[in-house]
Amino acid sequence: MYNRRITKPVYVGPVKVGGDAPITVQSMTKTDTRDVESTVAQIKGLEEAGCEIIRCAVPDMEAAKALPDIKRGISIPLVADIHFHYQLALEAIKGGVDCLRLNPGNIRDPERVKQVVAAAKERSIPIRIGVNFGSLPPVGSIGKTHTQHRLADGVNLLPKAGQHGDGQYTVVDHMVDTALWEIGILEALDFDLIKISLKAFDVQTTVEAYRRLAQLVPYPLHLGITESGTARSGSIRSAIGLGILLYEGIGDTIRVSLSDDPREEVSAGFDILKSLNLRQKGTVLVACPSCGRADINVVRLANAVDEALKGIAKPIKVAVMGCEVNGPGEAKDADVGIAGGAGRAIIFRKGQKVRVVPEAEMLTALLEEVQKV
Ligand code: SF4
Repeated sequence: MYNRRITKPVYVGPVKVGGDAPITVQSMTKTDTRDVESTVAQIKGLEEAGCEIIRCAVPDMEAAKALPDIKRGISIPLVADIHFHYQLALEAIKGGVDCLRLNPGNIRDPERVKQVVAAAKERSIPIRIGVNFGSLPPVGSIGKTHTQHRLADGVNLLPKAGQHGDGQYTVVDHMVDTALWEIGILEALDFDLIKISLKAFDVQTTVEAYRRLAQLVPYPLHLGITESGTARSGSIRSAIGLGILLYEGIGDTIRVSLSDDPREEVSAGFDILKSLNLRQKGTVLVACPSCGRADINVVRLANAVDEALKGIAKPIKVAVMGCEVNGPGEAKDADVGIAGGAGRAIIFRKGQKVRVVPEAEMLTALLEEVQKV
């Protein structure tokens, strides 16, 4: 259906990312990585929610040394998120992680980068280069060891996507140039197990940066909008940014960053993919918004059904409609649906009436029908 961009796949543990592999949904733990018990418990919860790859921040050696214990307690591939410190990267690789999120340009000393890359290569561990708007190198200083202070980096002075004049150097240019420089460091060491992300808060900047890089390199892309916000606004912002790219065939794995329980990130990720028919996982709920024609409380029923369907893995479409005049017709492609009537409700399958039940029994009856699909 979509003309998916062809990428050179990598394996994060057993999970293929890129190529013809399904677009995966990943998340990041919010616990202190040194606290193995809490971190494993959070990851187990994420596994149940469908998370396919998990990343943990590794800010110090104690966190790096906790990784093998975390790895033993979980079933999905583990990515170690490391900034600056090559020793942490070496320790994480030794500890059996499945992928590193690391920008080689941050390590600076070429000898140290070489050591990390050699260790990753030996164990076939991919490296995700994460270019973020908030941590770009100073403008005009990509690749230079001694640069200006971060706060004087000039990035904020660059025009954003859509706000620039002809030939002007933009934030998008700077993000893409930074990514190409980081990629070049790994390629010069003959390392190509690469994934890349190019995240900004601004949707247009993010979309433009990914589009541009997608044309320049063959590597899989990890999509995300950074610091996107709380569950509601962040999910919408992410759905727009990621949705545009995915619709264009760009993107191989996604993470929705939310200031909320990480399971919300996973369900938002799948909702985005399901909306584009890129993944089928669990139920899809079709529900009318209700109006003056409704014979039942659609809002209450739809939310109750949504909650009840959470544990169901079957990829089925369930409809909750307020009235029998329009409901069954409007939701005729639903596998199972319910439409309100006066004091009763009609259960339908693919638009055809199969049962009429008293209003008090409508939720139970609908769920019984769902089980039969
Ligand atoms: S299905 Fe019926 S109740 Fe629901 S929005 Fe349409 S007309 Fe209104």
